[in-house]
Amino acid sequence: MKKTVFYLAAAFVISACNHNPETETLADDNSTTNVAARRSCPSEELRAEMLKNDAAARERFINIEAGVQNFIATGKVLSDGTVDIPVVVNVLYRTSAENISDARIAEQIAVLNADFGGTNTDASKIPTEFSTVKAGDTKVRFHLIKTVRKSTTKTKWGTNDAMKKASTGGIDATSPANYFNLWVVGNMGGILGYATFPESAGLWNDGVVIAAPYFGKTGATSPYNLGRTATHEVGHYLNLRHIWGDAACGNDLVADTPTQTGANYGKPTYPLYNTCSGTSRSVMFMNYMDYVDDASMFMFSAGQKARAQAVLTSSGARSGLRIY
Ligand SMILES: [Zn+2]
Repeated sequence: MKKTVFYLAAAFVISACNHNPETETLADDNSTTNVAARRSCPSEELRAEMLKNDAAARERFINIEAGVQNFIATGKVLSDGTVDIPVVVNVLYRTSAENISDARIAEQIAVLNADFGGTNTDASKIPTEFSTVKAGDTKVRFHLIKTVRKSTTKTKWGTNDAMKKASTGGIDATSPANYFNLWVVGNMGGILGYATFPESAGLWNDGVVIAAPYFGKTGATSPYNLGRTATHEVGHYLNLRHIWGDAACGNDLVADTPTQTGANYGKPTYPLYNTCSGTSRSVMFMNYMDYVDDASMFMFSAGQKARAQAVLTSSGARSGLRIY
């Protein structure tokens, strides 16, 4: 079993280093405008780069994956009910539009709670075919601890984590081992947001970044105006991979999400069939970990729920979030 887990994890490290050319061209952070033509999230590429260069992070990654697989194999569930994650929102703004309101922050937290609680109203759209494997309530919730605001003259942010450090014009994380830090910045070009995975738990740069136009709902930019960029990025923060496994017919390490050829965009029509290894399957494009528009994503799977719970259990990589 251990060998299998190690092989799986090691295979992922290797596959993650093979860049997906489609994703590469989409990571359009050279754009001078603040408009995302298509959903783009470089979290996996950034993770692959870190794992390539950091042996200690690789070891954490492999150990975490072994723990996750063990949690799933033994059929464990969070023994003490729901984990209510404390959130610190760090807002870096140049314009008043970028200085998102407290109301919009509350709205975003509410979206996270609905999506992770399975109480999102559009959950009713989950196809019958996938209703047996839907997550329902993941037993993960979020509550706002505090909001930190800082004005800046910076017009453009990249994926180099500058927003996470005061010395580079950003805002230092608040106790990243115990609080989920979320940074909102004005403009990341074509990128909507990015996240760190659990092997970064407690590091200075641990957390999620979202570009202001895609944060919350009121005043957000269509078609990414239902707060689902945060749902997707928090999915990564809780150890979920892109549903296509960041490779052609790749592996997201979740058994109940059908293998699909690649990312889906826009508003696909159900059913959508992909053929991988000669087998045609109806794919779960309505999953939060795909790249479809906010209105077209409305579910996590039970397998994804198990992965998220595994990192939040008392021995999980993100157990520090349970103390408040
Ligand atoms: Zn992503």
